[in-house]
Amino acid sequence: MIQRIDRLAVELPPPSEPDPNGAAAVQELMGGRFGEMSTFMNYTFQSFNFRGRQQARPFYDLIANIAAEEFGHIELVAATINTMLTGASPTGDGKAPSASLAAVKGARLSHHYLLGGQGALPADSQAKPWTGDNVFSSGDLIEDLTHNYFLETGARSGKLRVYEMVEHPAARALTGYLLVRGGVHQLAYARALERLTGADLTRLFPSPNIPTEKIPECQPHIAKKLHLKLYRFSPSDYRELAAVFNGPHPETGEELIVEEEMPEGFPPTDMPPQPAVFAPDYAPEDVAEVAQRLREAAGLPKQPTGVVANDPSGIVGKVKDKLT
Ligand code: MN
Ligand code: MN
Repeated sequence: MIQRIDRLAVELPPPSEPDPNGAAAVQELMGGRFGEMSTFMNYTFQSFNFRGRQQARPFYDLIANIAAEEFGHIELVAATINTMLTGASPTGDGKAPSASLAAVKGARLSHHYLLGGQGALPADSQAKPWTGDNVFSSGDLIEDLTHNYFLETGARSGKLRVYEMVEHPAARALTGYLLVRGGVHQLAYARALERLTGADLTRLFPSPNIPTEKIPECQPHIAKKLHLKLYRFSPSDYRELAAVFNGPHPETGEELIVEEEMPEGFPPTDMPPQPAVFAPDYAPEDVAEVAQRLREAAGLPKQPTGVVANDPSGIVGKVKDKLT
């Protein structure tokens, strides 16, 4: 089972200038072959299918635990895409019958507007849907770990290329964070292979040869030792990953750290409605009005109980004015 926490793993900047084609490029980190859906589903299926796990517990715990972190990475990529698409169509009276979507007629990924409500898609940067063909779960631990090392290596390449292609601050914040975390996962699988077989994979680092410490958006995470830490994403389980994830970092010589608590996280930005694509409705204030009635009937506080990064009074405030 998974327990869900309504926080993002890293703080993302709020929507600013929209960047529709940059958002299309970021889709590669979502549904591309080396994207976060692939890492998430690879480790998830490998953990589901793991036989003899009690005897091999440290390796099972490592894979299952990293799978949980990858869910949060999918969430982050989606939040980044949503940030970059906010305002790509008019936000004020941007409603049909005016041609509110004309401005994005030339956008690389028309599905963002025609199929979705200016939101992330489970697809790559060419709109090709993510597929289970991207999952490798052979049942053989050495094969799976070797594959996972390669997957994280390809994922790091992809992140750096998106970093180079997209200058939007949300994309930069995302890739800066994921480059550091991907490096930890890559190292975790290399170390697991090293412990299991004696093969010295530390000589492959850094691979690809990315100078993470020179990337400004990586530096604050490195300063907080996020390049050394594996968080345990469960209150009581996956304790044995510490038997594998230990020893020196192959590039810096620093000791690796297992953090016994998952990160606290950051409240997500509540993305404003985009009326041109009817998200969350052609008239969002109608949905808010119904929600407010239901909230009061259920005895909930008048203000929404969820935590978001921005002032939640916007649309709720408007509905309150209408009701009073
Ligand atoms: Mn990831
Ligand atoms: Mn990863």
